[in-house]
Amino acid sequence: MRTQVAIIGAGPAGTLLSLLLRQQGIESVVLERQTKEYVLSRIRAGVLEWTSVEIMRAAGLSERLDVEGHRHESIKISWRAEELLSIDFERLAGKPMMAYGQTKIQEDLYAAADAHGQDIIFGASDVEIHDPNSDAPWVSFTANGEPVRLDCDFVAGCDGAHGVSRGSIPDSIKREYERSYPFGWLGILSETPPLPHLLYANHERGFALCSERNPMLSRYYVQCPLDDRVEDWSDDRFWSELLARVPKSEADNIVTGPSIEKSIAPLRSYVCEPMQYGRMFLAGDAAHIVPPTGAKGLNLSISDVHYLATAMAAHYSGDPGQLASYSETALRRVWGSVRFSWWMTVLLHRFPDQSPFEQRANEEDLHYLSRSEAAQTSVAEQYVGLDL
Ligand SMILES: Cc1cc2nc3c(=O)[nH]c(=O)nc-3n(C[C@H](O)[C@H](O)[C@H](O)COP(=O)(O)OP(=O)(O)OC[C@H]3O[C@@H](n4cnc5c(N)ncnc54)[C@H](O)[C@@H]3O)c2cc1C
Repeated sequence: MRTQVAIIGAGPAGTLLSLLLRQQGIESVVLERQTKEYVLSRIRAGVLEWTSVEIMRAAGLSERLDVEGHRHESIKISWRAEELLSIDFERLAGKPMMAYGQTKIQEDLYAAADAHGQDIIFGASDVEIHDPNSDAPWVSFTANGEPVRLDCDFVAGCDGAHGVSRGSIPDSIKREYERSYPFGWLGILSETPPLPHLLYANHERGFALCSERNPMLSRYYVQCPLDDRVEDWSDDRFWSELLARVPKSEADNIVTGPSIEKSIAPLRSYVCEPMQYGRMFLAGDAAHIVPPTGAKGLNLSISDVHYLATAMAAHYSGDPGQLASYSETALRRVWGSVRFSWWMTVLLHRFPDQSPFEQRANEEDLHYLSRSEAAQTSVAEQYVGLDL
Protein backbone atom coordinates (compact mmCIF):
# COMPACT_ATOMS: atom_id res chain seq x y z
CA MET A 1 0.00 0.00 0.00
CA ARG A 2 1.07 3.61 -0.50
CA THR A 3 -0.28 6.87 0.91
CA GLN A 4 0.99 10.36 1.61
CA VAL A 5 0.57 10.26 5.40
CA ALA A 6 0.43 7.08 7.50
CA ILE A 7 -1.41 7.93 10.72
CA ILE A 8 -1.05 5.61 13.71
CA GLY A 9 -4.02 5.74 16.11
CA ALA A 10 -7.68 6.59 15.41
CA GLY A 11 -8.42 8.47 18.64
CA PRO A 12 -9.43 12.13 18.40
CA ALA A 13 -5.94 13.25 17.24
CA GLY A 14 -5.47 10.68 14.45
CA THR A 15 -9.03 10.81 13.10
CA LEU A 16 -9.19 14.62 13.12
CA LEU A 17 -5.78 14.83 11.43
CA SER A 18 -6.97 12.56 8.61
CA LEU A 19 -10.01 14.81 8.06
CA LEU A 20 -8.00 18.06 8.17
CA LEU A 21 -5.50 16.62 5.67
CA ARG A 22 -8.34 15.46 3.42
CA GLN A 23 -9.68 19.04 3.37
CA GLN A 24 -6.28 20.08 1.99
CA GLY A 25 -6.33 17.33 -0.65
CA ILE A 26 -3.74 15.18 1.20
CA GLU A 27 -4.32 11.41 1.36
CA SER A 28 -3.83 9.38 4.51
CA VAL A 29 -4.42 5.90 5.93
CA VAL A 30 -5.20 5.55 9.63
CA LEU A 31 -4.14 2.41 11.53
CA GLU A 32 -5.99 1.67 14.79
CA ARG A 33 -5.14 -1.23 17.10
CA GLN A 34 -8.61 -1.47 18.68
CA THR A 35 -12.08 -1.99 17.22
CA LYS A 36 -14.26 1.02 16.45
CA GLU A 37 -16.73 -0.01 19.19
CA TYR A 38 -13.94 -0.15 21.77
CA VAL A 39 -12.68 3.35 20.94
CA LEU A 40 -16.23 4.71 21.08
CA SER A 41 -16.85 3.18 24.50
CA ARG A 42 -13.97 5.00 26.21
CA ILE A 43 -15.27 7.64 28.63
CA ARG A 44 -12.75 10.45 28.79
CA ALA A 45 -12.65 14.23 28.37
CA GLY A 46 -15.66 16.51 28.16
CA VAL A 47 -14.70 20.19 28.11
CA LEU A 48 -13.58 21.98 24.93
CA GLU A 49 -11.65 25.22 24.70
CA TRP A 50 -13.23 27.72 22.33
CA THR A 51 -10.22 27.37 20.01
CA SER A 52 -11.03 23.65 19.70
CA VAL A 53 -14.65 24.49 18.89
CA GLU A 54 -13.45 26.86 16.16
CA ILE A 55 -11.11 24.23 14.68
CA MET A 56 -14.01 21.73 14.60
CA ARG A 57 -16.27 24.35 12.99
CA ALA A 58 -13.71 25.25 10.31
CA ALA A 59 -13.38 21.55 9.51
CA GLY A 60 -17.17 21.22 9.08
CA LEU A 61 -17.41 18.92 12.11
CA SER A 62 -19.58 21.00 14.43
CA GLU A 63 -23.14 20.31 13.28
CA ARG A 64 -24.07 18.28 16.38
CA LEU A 65 -21.62 20.07 18.67
CA ASP A 66 -23.32 23.40 17.93
CA VAL A 67 -26.71 21.93 18.85
CA GLU A 68 -25.86 19.65 21.77
CA GLY A 69 -22.74 21.35 23.20
CA HIS A 70 -23.38 23.30 26.35
CA ARG A 71 -21.63 26.67 26.86
CA HIS A 72 -19.87 27.17 30.19
CA GLU A 73 -19.30 30.78 31.00
CA SER A 74 -17.75 30.37 34.45
CA ILE A 75 -16.21 28.01 36.97
CA LYS A 76 -16.47 28.08 40.72
CA ILE A 77 -13.70 27.10 43.14
CA SER A 78 -14.34 26.34 46.81
CA TRP A 79 -12.03 25.69 49.73
CA ARG A 80 -12.61 24.53 53.28
CA ALA A 81 -16.21 23.75 52.12
CA GLU A 82 -17.15 27.34 52.96
CA GLU A 83 -15.26 29.86 50.80
CA LEU A 84 -16.42 30.08 47.19
CA LEU A 85 -15.15 32.13 44.27
CA SER A 86 -16.42 32.38 40.74
CA ILE A 87 -14.38 33.12 37.59
CA ASP A 88 -16.37 34.56 34.72
CA PHE A 89 -14.66 33.50 31.46
CA GLU A 90 -16.93 35.41 29.15
CA ARG A 91 -16.35 38.73 30.96
CA LEU A 92 -12.63 38.26 31.71
CA ALA A 93 -11.36 36.35 28.67
CA GLY A 94 -14.10 37.07 26.14
CA LYS A 95 -14.78 33.38 25.45
CA PRO A 96 -16.76 30.54 27.06
CA MET A 97 -15.89 26.82 27.22
CA MET A 98 -18.05 24.13 25.64
CA ALA A 99 -19.11 20.95 27.45
CA TYR A 100 -19.30 18.16 24.84
CA GLY A 101 -18.15 14.61 25.60
CA GLN A 102 -15.14 13.03 23.91
CA THR A 103 -17.30 10.03 22.97
CA LYS A 104 -19.57 12.34 20.95
CA ILE A 105 -16.58 14.01 19.28
CA GLN A 106 -15.24 10.57 18.36
CA GLU A 107 -18.64 9.54 16.95
CA ASP A 108 -18.78 12.76 14.88
CA LEU A 109 -15.23 12.19 13.59
CA TYR A 110 -15.96 8.58 12.58
CA ALA A 111 -19.24 9.64 10.92
CA ALA A 112 -17.36 12.27 8.86
CA ALA A 113 -14.61 9.75 8.03
CA ASP A 114 -17.24 7.25 6.82
CA ALA A 115 -19.03 9.93 4.80
CA HIS A 116 -15.78 10.86 3.02
CA GLY A 117 -14.56 7.29 2.56
CA GLN A 118 -11.51 7.95 4.74
CA ASP A 119 -9.42 4.81 5.10
CA ILE A 120 -9.30 3.71 8.77
CA ILE A 121 -8.04 0.17 9.39
CA PHE A 122 -9.31 -1.07 12.76
CA GLY A 123 -7.74 -4.07 14.48
CA ALA A 124 -4.30 -3.30 12.96
CA SER A 125 -1.74 -5.08 15.12
CA ASP A 126 2.09 -5.24 15.31
CA VAL A 127 2.40 -1.68 13.95
CA GLU A 128 6.04 -0.70 13.44
CA ILE A 129 7.62 2.43 11.95
CA HIS A 130 10.62 1.93 9.65
CA ASP A 131 13.23 4.41 8.39
CA PRO A 132 11.57 7.52 9.91
CA ASN A 133 14.77 9.50 9.33
CA SER A 134 14.92 8.73 5.60
CA ASP A 135 13.11 10.16 2.56
CA ALA A 136 11.08 6.95 2.31
CA PRO A 137 9.59 5.97 5.67
CA TRP A 138 7.21 3.00 5.85
CA VAL A 139 4.99 1.27 8.35
CA SER A 140 4.42 -2.46 8.74
CA PHE A 141 1.38 -3.98 10.43
CA THR A 142 -0.84 -7.04 10.49
CA ALA A 143 -4.46 -6.84 9.31
CA ASN A 144 -6.81 -9.85 9.16
CA GLY A 145 -3.83 -12.10 9.92
CA GLU A 146 -1.86 -10.82 6.89
CA PRO A 147 1.35 -8.74 7.05
CA VAL A 148 1.04 -5.39 5.24
CA ARG A 149 3.63 -2.78 4.18
CA LEU A 150 2.46 0.84 3.93
CA ASP A 151 4.85 3.23 2.15
CA CYS A 152 4.36 6.94 2.79
CA ASP A 153 5.86 10.43 2.72
CA PHE A 154 5.27 11.05 6.43
CA VAL A 155 4.22 9.17 9.58
CA ALA A 156 1.97 10.82 12.17
CA GLY A 157 2.21 9.18 15.60
CA CYS A 158 -1.22 9.80 17.15
CA ASP A 159 -1.21 6.59 19.18
CA GLY A 160 -1.66 7.94 22.68
CA ALA A 161 0.35 7.43 25.85
CA HIS A 162 1.01 3.71 25.25
CA GLY A 163 1.66 3.79 21.51
CA VAL A 164 4.74 2.75 19.55
CA SER A 165 5.54 5.98 17.71
CA ARG A 166 7.44 7.78 20.46
CA GLY A 167 9.84 4.83 20.60
CA SER A 168 11.12 5.61 17.10
CA ILE A 169 12.89 8.75 18.40
CA PRO A 170 16.41 7.65 19.43
CA ASP A 171 17.18 7.95 23.16
CA SER A 172 20.14 10.15 22.32
CA ILE A 173 17.73 12.80 20.93
CA LYS A 174 14.64 12.33 23.11
CA ARG A 175 14.16 14.41 26.29
CA GLU A 176 11.38 13.37 28.67
CA TYR A 177 9.91 15.52 31.47
CA GLU A 178 7.64 13.82 33.98
CA ARG A 179 5.77 14.35 37.22
CA SER A 180 3.53 11.67 38.76
CA TYR A 181 1.03 12.64 41.43
CA PRO A 182 0.52 10.50 44.56
CA PHE A 183 -3.27 10.15 44.15
CA GLY A 184 -5.91 9.28 41.57
CA TRP A 185 -9.35 10.52 40.52
CA LEU A 186 -12.36 8.31 41.09
CA GLY A 187 -14.89 9.42 38.47
CA ILE A 188 -18.54 8.52 37.98
CA LEU A 189 -21.13 9.28 35.33
CA SER A 190 -24.74 9.57 36.44
CA GLU A 191 -27.88 10.31 34.48
CA THR A 192 -28.80 13.27 36.65
CA PRO A 193 -28.93 17.02 35.89
CA PRO A 194 -25.53 18.66 36.55
CA LEU A 195 -24.83 21.90 38.40
CA PRO A 196 -25.11 24.91 36.03
CA HIS A 197 -21.34 25.58 36.42
CA LEU A 198 -18.16 23.51 36.88
CA LEU A 199 -17.22 23.38 40.57
CA TYR A 200 -13.67 22.62 41.76
CA ALA A 201 -13.20 21.96 45.49
CA ASN A 202 -10.11 22.00 47.69
CA HIS A 203 -11.05 20.27 50.94
CA GLU A 204 -9.21 18.60 53.81
CA ARG A 205 -10.78 15.26 52.74
CA GLY A 206 -9.33 15.80 49.23
CA PHE A 207 -10.14 17.39 45.88
CA ALA A 208 -13.56 17.12 44.19
CA LEU A 209 -14.90 18.24 40.80
CA CYS A 210 -18.49 18.58 39.59
CA SER A 211 -18.65 18.57 35.80
CA GLU A 212 -21.06 17.53 33.08
CA ARG A 213 -21.43 15.89 29.70
CA ASN A 214 -24.94 17.13 28.82
CA PRO A 215 -28.07 18.45 30.60
CA MET A 216 -29.00 14.95 31.81
CA LEU A 217 -25.52 13.47 32.26
CA SER A 218 -23.25 14.53 35.13
CA ARG A 219 -19.57 13.73 35.64
CA TYR A 220 -18.23 13.89 39.20
CA TYR A 221 -14.76 13.14 40.57
CA VAL A 222 -13.19 12.78 44.02
CA GLN A 223 -9.47 12.50 44.77
CA CYS A 224 -8.66 9.02 46.14
CA PRO A 225 -5.55 7.02 47.11
CA LEU A 226 -3.82 5.41 44.12
CA ASP A 227 -4.27 1.91 45.50
CA ASP A 228 -8.05 2.23 45.97
CA ARG A 229 -10.15 -0.12 43.85
CA VAL A 230 -13.45 0.77 42.16
CA GLU A 231 -15.10 -2.10 44.10
CA ASP A 232 -14.25 -0.25 47.34
CA TRP A 233 -16.49 2.61 46.30
CA SER A 234 -20.24 2.00 46.47
CA ASP A 235 -22.41 4.76 45.00
CA ASP A 236 -23.47 5.75 48.54
CA ARG A 237 -19.87 6.10 49.65
CA PHE A 238 -19.05 8.18 46.56
CA TRP A 239 -21.96 10.60 47.00
CA SER A 240 -21.40 11.14 50.73
CA GLU A 241 -17.70 11.86 50.07
CA LEU A 242 -18.48 14.27 47.24
CA LEU A 243 -21.13 16.15 49.22
CA ALA A 244 -18.79 16.46 52.22
CA ARG A 245 -16.12 18.19 50.09
CA VAL A 246 -18.23 21.02 48.60
CA PRO A 247 -19.97 23.96 50.33
CA LYS A 248 -23.47 23.22 51.65
CA SER A 249 -24.99 25.80 49.28
CA GLU A 250 -23.65 23.72 46.33
CA ALA A 251 -24.24 20.29 47.90
CA ASP A 252 -27.92 21.15 48.32
CA ASN A 253 -28.22 21.50 44.52
CA ILE A 254 -26.41 18.28 43.56
CA VAL A 255 -28.86 15.65 42.35
CA THR A 256 -27.57 12.16 43.22
CA GLY A 257 -28.52 8.92 41.46
CA PRO A 258 -27.10 5.55 40.39
CA SER A 259 -23.73 5.65 38.61
CA ILE A 260 -23.62 4.28 35.05
CA GLU A 261 -19.80 4.26 34.91
CA LYS A 262 -17.14 4.34 37.59
CA SER A 263 -13.37 4.31 37.15
CA ILE A 264 -10.12 5.39 38.81
CA ALA A 265 -7.50 7.27 36.77
CA PRO A 266 -3.93 8.09 37.90
CA LEU A 267 -2.68 11.66 37.34
CA ARG A 268 0.53 12.42 35.47
CA SER A 269 2.32 15.27 33.71
CA TYR A 270 4.63 14.19 30.88
CA VAL A 271 6.25 15.85 27.85
CA CYS A 272 8.43 14.26 25.17
CA GLU A 273 10.73 16.57 23.23
CA PRO A 274 11.15 16.92 20.32
CA MET A 275 7.76 16.04 18.82
CA GLN A 276 9.33 15.09 15.49
CA TYR A 277 12.13 12.92 14.19
CA GLY A 278 12.93 12.94 10.49
CA ARG A 279 9.60 12.32 8.74
CA MET A 280 7.78 11.11 11.90
CA PHE A 281 5.65 13.60 13.86
CA LEU A 282 3.98 13.06 17.24
CA ALA A 283 0.61 14.60 18.15
CA GLY A 284 -1.67 14.41 21.20
CA ASP A 285 -1.17 12.03 24.10
CA ALA A 286 1.62 10.28 22.17
CA ALA A 287 3.77 13.31 23.00
CA HIS A 288 2.36 14.66 26.25
CA ILE A 289 0.04 13.87 29.15
CA VAL A 290 -1.58 16.36 31.52
CA PRO A 291 -3.59 15.72 34.68
CA PRO A 292 -7.26 16.39 33.80
CA THR A 293 -7.52 19.24 36.35
CA GLY A 294 -7.09 21.94 33.69
CA ALA A 295 -9.25 20.13 31.05
CA LYS A 296 -6.41 20.36 28.52
CA GLY A 297 -5.61 16.82 27.24
CA LEU A 298 -8.12 16.60 24.42
CA ASN A 299 -7.67 20.28 23.56
CA LEU A 300 -3.93 19.84 23.07
CA SER A 301 -4.55 16.89 20.75
CA ILE A 302 -6.79 19.14 18.65
CA SER A 303 -4.31 22.04 18.52
CA ASP A 304 -1.36 19.72 17.72
CA VAL A 305 -3.12 18.24 14.69
CA HIS A 306 -4.23 21.70 13.57
CA TYR A 307 -0.56 22.77 13.50
CA LEU A 308 0.53 19.52 11.85
CA ALA A 309 -2.12 19.56 9.11
CA THR A 310 -1.36 23.23 8.35
CA ALA A 311 2.37 22.50 8.17
CA MET A 312 1.88 19.44 5.92
CA ALA A 313 -0.37 21.46 3.60
CA ALA A 314 2.36 24.15 3.39
CA HIS A 315 4.94 21.44 2.63
CA TYR A 316 2.92 20.06 -0.31
CA SER A 317 2.52 23.65 -1.57
CA GLY A 318 6.29 24.08 -1.64
CA ASP A 319 6.96 25.63 1.80
CA PRO A 320 8.75 23.09 4.04
CA GLY A 321 9.53 25.62 6.84
CA GLN A 322 6.43 25.08 9.00
CA LEU A 323 6.94 21.32 9.08
CA ALA A 324 10.58 21.77 10.08
CA SER A 325 9.48 23.88 13.05
CA TYR A 326 6.32 21.86 13.96
CA SER A 327 7.76 20.57 17.24
CA GLU A 328 8.85 24.03 18.36
CA THR A 329 5.44 25.55 17.47
CA ALA A 330 3.40 22.80 19.13
CA LEU A 331 5.58 22.63 22.26
CA ARG A 332 5.04 26.32 23.00
CA ARG A 333 1.33 25.68 23.47
CA VAL A 334 1.90 22.29 25.10
CA TRP A 335 4.12 23.71 27.85
CA GLY A 336 1.58 26.48 28.56
CA SER A 337 -1.10 23.84 29.18
CA VAL A 338 1.25 21.51 31.05
CA ARG A 339 2.25 24.31 33.42
CA PHE A 340 -1.38 25.41 33.95
CA SER A 341 -2.62 21.84 34.60
CA TRP A 342 0.23 21.24 37.08
CA TRP A 343 -0.52 24.54 38.86
CA MET A 344 -4.26 23.77 39.15
CA THR A 345 -3.43 20.27 40.44
CA VAL A 346 -1.03 21.51 43.12
CA LEU A 347 -3.39 24.31 44.15
CA LEU A 348 -6.49 22.16 44.57
CA HIS A 349 -5.35 18.73 45.83
CA ARG A 350 -4.19 17.46 49.22
CA PHE A 351 -0.83 15.72 48.87
CA PRO A 352 -0.15 12.93 51.39
CA ASP A 353 3.03 14.71 52.56
CA GLN A 354 1.65 18.25 52.35
CA SER A 355 2.75 20.46 55.26
CA PRO A 356 0.37 22.90 57.02
CA PHE A 357 2.54 25.68 55.55
CA GLU A 358 1.89 24.49 51.98
CA GLN A 359 -1.84 24.19 52.62
CA ARG A 360 -2.04 27.73 54.08
CA ALA A 361 -0.03 29.03 51.10
CA ASN A 362 -2.54 27.36 48.73
CA GLU A 363 -5.45 28.88 50.65
CA GLU A 364 -3.81 32.29 50.40
CA ASP A 365 -3.49 31.77 46.64
CA LEU A 366 -7.24 31.10 46.55
CA HIS A 367 -7.99 34.16 48.73
CA TYR A 368 -5.88 36.27 46.39
CA LEU A 369 -7.71 34.81 43.40
CA SER A 370 -11.06 35.70 44.99
CA ARG A 371 -9.97 39.33 45.55
CA SER A 372 -7.93 40.13 42.43
CA GLU A 373 -9.52 40.61 39.02
CA ALA A 374 -6.01 40.52 37.48
CA ALA A 375 -5.41 37.04 38.95
CA GLN A 376 -8.85 35.84 37.81
CA THR A 377 -8.18 37.17 34.29
CA SER A 378 -4.93 35.22 34.18
CA VAL A 379 -6.71 31.98 35.17
CA ALA A 380 -9.62 32.69 32.81
CA GLU A 381 -7.43 33.21 29.74
CA GLN A 382 -5.41 30.06 30.45
CA TYR A 383 -8.49 27.96 31.22
CA VAL A 384 -10.38 28.92 28.05
CA GLY A 385 -7.13 28.44 26.11
CA LEU A 386 -4.67 30.88 24.62
CA ASP A 387 -5.04 31.79 20.96
CA LEU A 388 -3.28 29.53 18.46
C1 LIG B 1 -9.41 7.86 31.89
C2 LIG B 1 -9.11 9.16 31.19
C3 LIG B 1 -9.84 10.32 31.51
C4 LIG B 1 -9.56 11.53 30.88
N1 LIG B 1 -10.28 12.65 31.22
C5 LIG B 1 -9.98 13.82 30.62
C6 LIG B 1 -10.68 15.00 30.94
O1 LIG B 1 -11.56 15.00 31.79
N2 LIG B 1 -10.34 16.16 30.29
C7 LIG B 1 -9.36 16.18 29.32
O2 LIG B 1 -9.10 17.23 28.72
N3 LIG B 1 -8.69 15.08 29.00
C8 LIG B 1 -8.98 13.91 29.61
N4 LIG B 1 -8.30 12.80 29.27
C9 LIG B 1 -7.32 12.94 28.23
C10 LIG B 1 -7.94 12.86 26.83
O3 LIG B 1 -8.92 11.87 26.81
C11 LIG B 1 -6.80 12.57 25.89
O4 LIG B 1 -5.92 13.69 25.96
C12 LIG B 1 -7.25 12.33 24.45
O5 LIG B 1 -7.93 11.12 24.34
C13 LIG B 1 -6.01 12.30 23.57
O6 LIG B 1 -6.36 11.94 22.26
P1 LIG B 1 -5.30 11.19 21.36
O7 LIG B 1 -6.00 10.93 20.08
O8 LIG B 1 -4.04 11.95 21.36
O9 LIG B 1 -4.99 9.82 22.13
P2 LIG B 1 -5.95 8.60 22.41
O10 LIG B 1 -7.35 9.05 22.64
O11 LIG B 1 -5.30 7.81 23.48
O12 LIG B 1 -5.94 7.79 21.06
C14 LIG B 1 -4.83 7.04 20.65
C15 LIG B 1 -5.31 5.88 19.81
O13 LIG B 1 -4.18 5.15 19.34
C16 LIG B 1 -4.46 3.77 19.43
N5 LIG B 1 -3.18 3.04 19.52
C17 LIG B 1 -2.34 2.96 20.57
N6 LIG B 1 -1.28 2.22 20.27
C18 LIG B 1 -1.42 1.82 18.99
C19 LIG B 1 -0.65 1.03 18.12
N7 LIG B 1 0.51 0.48 18.52
N8 LIG B 1 -1.10 0.80 16.88
C20 LIG B 1 -2.27 1.36 16.46
N9 LIG B 1 -3.07 2.11 17.24
C21 LIG B 1 -2.64 2.35 18.50
C22 LIG B 1 -5.30 3.65 20.69
O14 LIG B 1 -6.08 2.46 20.69
C23 LIG B 1 -6.15 4.89 20.60
O15 LIG B 1 -7.38 4.68 19.95
C24 LIG B 1 -8.54 11.59 29.90
C25 LIG B 1 -7.83 10.44 29.56
C26 LIG B 1 -8.09 9.23 30.20
C27 LIG B 1 -7.28 8.02 29.84
